[in-house]
Amino acid sequence: MKLLIRGAGVTGLTLAHELALRGVDVTVVDVSRQIAGNASWQAGGMLAPWCELESAEEAVLTLGRGAADWWDAALPGHVMRNGTLVVAPARDADELDRFGRRTSGFRKVDAETIAALEPDLEGRFGRALFFADEAHLDPRKALLGLQKQLVRMGVRFEFGYGAVQAPGGPDFDADCTGIAGRQPGLRSVRGEMLILRTSEVALARPVRLLHPRIPVYVVPRSGNLFMVGATMIESDAAGPVTARSVMELLNAAYALHPAFGEAELVETGTGIRPAFADNLPRVEREGNTIRINGLYRHGFLLAPAMARQAAAMILGTEMEKERALEAHH
Ligand SMILES: Cc1cc2nc3c(=O)[nH]c(=O)nc-3n(C[C@H](O)[C@H](O)[C@H](O)COP(=O)(O)OP(=O)(O)OC[C@H]3O[C@@H](n4cnc5c(N)ncnc54)[C@H](O)[C@@H]3O)c2cc1C
Repeated sequence: MKLLIRGAGVTGLTLAHELALRGVDVTVVDVSRQIAGNASWQAGGMLAPWCELESAEEAVLTLGRGAADWWDAALPGHVMRNGTLVVAPARDADELDRFGRRTSGFRKVDAETIAALEPDLEGRFGRALFFADEAHLDPRKALLGLQKQLVRMGVRFEFGYGAVQAPGGPDFDADCTGIAGRQPGLRSVRGEMLILRTSEVALARPVRLLHPRIPVYVVPRSGNLFMVGATMIESDAAGPVTARSVMELLNAAYALHPAFGEAELVETGTGIRPAFADNLPRVEREGNTIRINGLYRHGFLLAPAMARQAAAMILGTEMEKERALEAHH
């Protein structure tokens, strides 16, 4: 069976992996010249289904709780399972209680535990919520690593073309083009982010800083880098970050630790999240075309579950047979 996947973001690559594993002949095409610049490239890489409950449906937890295992199996060594720490400045301490009421899967920790988990935050916050089962990865390394792995598995990539056909014509066509998908009801949610570099702060895990207006997170990456994200603006404007957003993101980073004030601002970026009205992703089939879209702020978290659903649709009974055989053994 031949499959043509349009879009080499996290959605397309995850689907490619799920199907190449099952022996499907996969070609991935992308209008872009490289794996970069799309929404996936700008992501924080948090695999945080419990924290996300703060503003998401229970389905995000159900679909996302297996994500860290999926990434671990697909790309061993990329997933860091250090949990998430959620803190609030003293004047916004009520926000911590509100966050706790809307989420699950955490324990309340005191200043001593905060210092044990993140020594550089010692003395800065009196209490926090610790989501021990959450994980994160570096999305850029994960996308490039997955592409490399897919090439080894025999998947072909064509960059700079949107209309290339799989040789001989595909049996199935999968549209994973994110915001370019133009499905009815799909909307754009602009997300701006920064990357800071400093050797003055070390964090082992993503830290979310609550604030009534703009909650911000800081995700540590290798090389003394920290991704600071992200705005949520109902807009399809893909242009550069605004001065206001930079100020707000930097203020939050500075409130987390003043040493971020001396950090180098090495990058600013904008990504457009594709979302439906309910902010939940959809897998749709129309004849031999599959569409996966609406991953919103959960691309890395939910793409594995969406890829599995799409693979089941594509392979249909063949997969059922496979499962029956596995069960038999
Ligand atoms: C700032 C920010 C932070 C985020 N943080 C997180 C996070 O911590 N955790 C998490 O899980 N999610 C996060 N997200 C959400 C996540 O990034 C998105 O849900 C995800 O990237 C959507 O992936 P996608 O593959 O559907 O779309 P995209 O990544 O946009 O990929 C779509 C691809 O399709 C290509 N394309 C377009 N048109 C065509 C065509 N006609 N033919 C072929 N190719 C085409 C594009 O070039 C692009 O490469 C974040 C998003 C942003 C913006």
